[in-house]
Amino acid sequence: MQTSLLDRLFDSGLLIDTGVEGLYGRSGAFEDVIARFERLVDTYGGADGAEAMRFPPGMNRAHFETSGYMKSFPQLAGTVHSFCGGELDHMSLLQCMEVEGDWTKDQKATDIVLTPAACYPLYPTIAKRGRLPAGGGLYDLQSYCFRHEPSNDPARQQLFRMREYVCMGTQEHVTTFRQTWMDRGLEMMAKVGLDVTIDVANDPFFGRAGRMLANNQRDQNLKFELLIPVTSTAKPTACMSFNYHQDAFGAKWGLNLENGDVAHTACVGFGLERIALALFARHGLDIAAWPTDVRNVLGYQD
Ligand code: ATP
Ligand code: ZN
Ligand code: MG
Repeated sequence: MQTSLLDRLFDSGLLIDTGVEGLYGRSGAFEDVIARFERLVDTYGGADGAEAMRFPPGMNRAHFETSGYMKSFPQLAGTVHSFCGGELDHMSLLQCMEVEGDWTKDQKATDIVLTPAACYPLYPTIAKRGRLPAGGGLYDLQSYCFRHEPSNDPARQQLFRMREYVCMGTQEHVTTFRQTWMDRGLEMMAKVGLDVTIDVANDPFFGRAGRMLANNQRDQNLKFELLIPVTSTAKPTACMSFNYHQDAFGAKWGLNLENGDVAHTACVGFGLERIALALFARHGLDIAAWPTDVRNVLGYQD
């Protein structure tokens, strides 16, 4: 039997097993690939004048509730709960742990939930500022994101990083932004020697009503994915996504253009672990042996 990519990643030390599917430590070399790829992203996006912001991997629960995430993706969400009791509660907590009972059942929800996508904390932040400036808004984000989708596919992690650019403006402005990044995505991946295809896609909306939302998203070409082989050539993995939200987020959050019109928004996301994994799957686990042109693009010294 062939060893799986995940086992080879563990054996090489690039990923570190924590005992939980989709929750991995990463070696210095793995992190360095991500850092170098992000620098390549910067060379494409850096001149556009995006405002850089970095949020922690947890977001304001009230903002999360407003986002409607629990309507669409309840199965993926992660909340932060804490012990909020007194000394007696503490004693029963410890007793419960002693007998391996469910000690978490009395934990209380905090004001923090885990960020599901890098752009979620952005919309309320920008809305609070008032109307967008003339020419709209462009933002550069990166965050750890949580999704409860345990899997033995190394490319489907529960805590992973997303680099995003988010554009707010007129329909024409944000759809042009999205097309620009689809072109750039193809060019960047070709430069690092990865085979890519782009296809229309949909989000995993929950339940029966969700199926209709997913069909609608596809029919209207609202989401595209850039796919690269990681664990399978027949079923390549989405390593970037290009999302047009129409004016849905603008209306929800009260994002308005300079003239008062509701803003349209679009975001493009790079799955940073997935891109690193695609590079390892394509060029091998030994970075020193990667093709010279790929090493050069990523700035490795020979
Ligand atoms: P998939 O269809 O594979 O579940 P997605 O449609 O959920 O992906 P998005 O919600 O568009 O992905 O997220 C943006 C990017 O984040 C994806 O293109 C992908 O590269 C990355 N990503 C999404 N989910 C994961 C995950 N579980 N582990 C690692 N990277 C992920
Ligand atoms: Zn986004
Ligand atoms: Mg998904």
